[in-house]
Amino acid sequence: NFVHFNSFFNQIIDRHEMSKKDSINFKRYITTEYILIEIDEDKIVQVIDNIISNATKYSPDGGTISFYLARQGDEIKISIRDQGMGIPKNNLEKIFQRFFRVDKARSRAMGGTGLGLAISKEMIDAHGGRIWAESTEEKGTIISFTLPYDDFVEDEEEGWE
Ligand code: ATP
Ligand code: MG
Repeated sequence: NFVHFNSFFNQIIDRHEMSKKDSINFKRYITTEYILIEIDEDKIVQVIDNIISNATKYSPDGGTISFYLARQGDEIKISIRDQGMGIPKNNLEKIFQRFFRVDKARSRAMGGTGLGLAISKEMIDAHGGRIWAESTEEKGTIISFTLPYDDFVEDEEEGWE
């Protein structure tokens, strides 16, 4: 279905904002450009839910989670940044593998199965996008993904020539 991605993203963030701890802050950097995009809504909700719950799980008290949405040419980019413990450089790609979890001890204490990001990657791949992680240990993590964006107004204009 076609969705207005700005409000779609805001609604997901709203839901997490209502249930978050007071000690975690949310900040939004969401483009005002109107983005209409065709996605499988349920699947993209699941992807964003998992990234936000990871960010929340690993955020320290007083930490800020930042949400970005921007269009970059023929794709849109979504990023979610936290100020948590971070992920070691050599694990940045492994976190997208099934059952991989950084540091078994800390992960066990946090709960979860290690499937969230593997499933997210499958869903983003199926949409023709990319997903990746950037992180600095002790400073935080940024999980980003892209989705292909068709500027179909332009396509229509071509059809009129
Ligand atoms: P599940 O999502 O299945 O409940 P999970 O959260 O452990 O379990 P993933 O979401 O796939 O699994 O994440 C894999 C691992 O990557 C986590 O166990 C954690 O070690 C690491 N990780 C993911 N996001 C973050 C983050 N924001 N900060 C620090 N570590 C993270
Ligand atoms: Mg998870």
